Amino acid sequence: MKRKKDVRPLITLINTDEKQDKNIERVCRVCGCTDATPCMHTGIPCFWIEKDLCSDCASVADMEKFDEVYDQFNLIAMEVAWEYFEARMEHPTYPTYHHGAAVIREEYEELWDEVKKKEWDKKAMRKEAIQVATTAIRFVIDLIDNEVGQ
Ligand SMILES: [Zn+2]
Ligand SMILES: [Zn+2]
Repeated sequence: MKRKKDVRPLITLINTDEKQDKNIERVCRVCGCTDATPCMHTGIPCFWIEKDLCSDCASVADMEKFDEVYDQFNLIAMEVAWEYFEARMEHPTYPTYHHGAAVIREEYEELWDEVKKKEWDKKAMRKEAIQVATTAIRFVIDLIDNEVGQ
């Protein structure tokens, strides 16, 4: 079926270590395609909608549901990106692994403080959860991928 966005298949093309560790080899229950032999009807490889259902075999309703969640995820990822660039203006990089982990813990503790409250403030919890995500991503960028840390 026709896809609205061409970026989605990137999710399945990204080969993370975790994916390799788990040795996930998926097979579509309808057409039998796999990661190694994706459908190419639309010109780009199909991707997984369910653990055993590929995008080319999914119903329109399944795809609409997927689109909704995908859009929601991207909007939140943009919020995280904004937080990340704001934080970089203050401190260009995390200096060490210990520092990075301590900042993540600090943000996590702030989230935990909100969760422990008798009267939940969803807006505050959301904000803290975004901060946790931002610090975790900074850890990956600054200290792992850019190899700044020691
Ligand atoms: Zn299929
Ligand atoms: Zn397929």
